[in-house]
Amino acid sequence: MRKAILEKLIFLDRDGVINYEPGTYTWDPEKFQVLPGVMDTLKYWKNQGYGLVVITNQGGVARGLYSKNDVFAVHHYFQGLCNLQGFNIDAFYYCPHHENYSGRCLCRKPGHLMLDKALHHFGALPGDCVFIGDNERDMAAAAGAGVKGVLVETNIGLSAEIIHA
Ligand SMILES: [Mg+2]
Ligand SMILES: [Zn+2]
Repeated sequence: MRKAILEKLIFLDRDGVINYEPGTYTWDPEKFQVLPGVMDTLKYWKNQGYGLVVITNQGGVARGLYSKNDVFAVHHYFQGLCNLQGFNIDAFYYCPHHENYSGRCLCRKPGHLMLDKALHHFGALPGDCVFIGDNERDMAAAAGAGVKGVLVETNIGLSAEIIHA
């Protein structure tokens, strides 16, 4: 991962916020459906000077349903879509653990280690960042890291106003 200083970050949950959450795991790029408004809104935020960081639980890895390489393939696919629109996601953080299969970890949301790592990596202060998620555990992770949480409805997509509402 390339080192960078990005003073303000928008953290994004993945499934249900960026892409359609079918109620089961998404690990096949062909089934990765970007939700309405997402690409335009992310591009707008990038142009406003925000870094974009995806923060996603992928407990299906611990469960043996798919591999880390599948997670990378999905993220590579989405990064490619962003690149076609002229911007990039600054980082993807994922937790491959699940307490029922691999034991407890500190990264799985509602834990906030992924957020802490990203804040440190990019040199950002929690108070300058927001976390957009569709689940209470996203909000708990945000609170744990001292970041403002913005709860959105699952699968509704994104628009630029939501971080100022
Ligand atoms: Mg979600
Ligand atoms: Zn973890």
